[in-house]
Amino acid sequence: MRTVLIVANWKMHKTLDEAQAFVEAFLPHIEAIEGVEMALAPAFTVLRDVGVALKNSPVRLAAQNLHFAAQGAYTGEISPLMLRDVGCSYVIVGHSERRQYFHEDDALINKKLAAAFEQKLIAILCVGETLQERHAGATERVLERQVRADLRELDRQTLSQLVMAYEPIWAIGTGETASPADAEQGARFLRELIRDRYGSQVAQSIRILYGGSVKPENVEELISQPNIDGALVGGASLDPQQFAQIIKAAARAAHS
Ligand code: PEP
Repeated sequence: MRTVLIVANWKMHKTLDEAQAFVEAFLPHIEAIEGVEMALAPAFTVLRDVGVALKNSPVRLAAQNLHFAAQGAYTGEISPLMLRDVGCSYVIVGHSERRQYFHEDDALINKKLAAAFEQKLIAILCVGETLQERHAGATERVLERQVRADLRELDRQTLSQLVMAYEPIWAIGTGETASPADAEQGARFLRELIRDRYGSQVAQSIRILYGGSVKPENVEELISQPNIDGALVGGASLDPQQFAQIIKAAARAAHS
């Protein structure tokens, strides 16, 4: 049984006051939630304070990115060691916005994944196709290329901890959610890829999230799909009430 995981990706939003106000408003809503793991991925500048505010709550701390070295002359970067130091459990790796705007390629993402696991961070690897690739019928080819290159040389034991997020790029921040059937097709394909390459035990333990315009109204049906184990939520995670509604709907799906 895989535990449902809902992760908020705040991207480049929220000052310290805003982040603290979010946590204060959010935590009372999820006190009674069971059977769902939750994490917030705030900006680096507020990670530590949000971590402190989440202490004694069931909500885990996640980072949005990392560098692959433990320390060194990499001006402007944040290491996995530093993320552990402020209490992160998870780190998002290979988000499409990092791939697109910061030119992160699969080789770099592979190094980041290895570094994250080395520091006992659970990596959330994002993969997904563009609209152009989807229209060209290349979705599966793109996913296969990303999985093959991003996971290169990671061993089975490490991989069984991995979280993947199927995030069709055309659905991110656009308001256009993939249909539950399309999201399930992508997630199932990813699980089959993992099974073929690493065996069914790894494939059964890896959690696959869906990401792309998840909202309170669509999350339950998405998570009810057999291969979708949770959601990575951008825009709708910025509002505490809305994000709490998503979690409550996910809990209903997890218990049904
Ligand atoms: C994301 O950033 O991973 C994401 C899914 O964003 P949104 O929910 O806004 O589409």
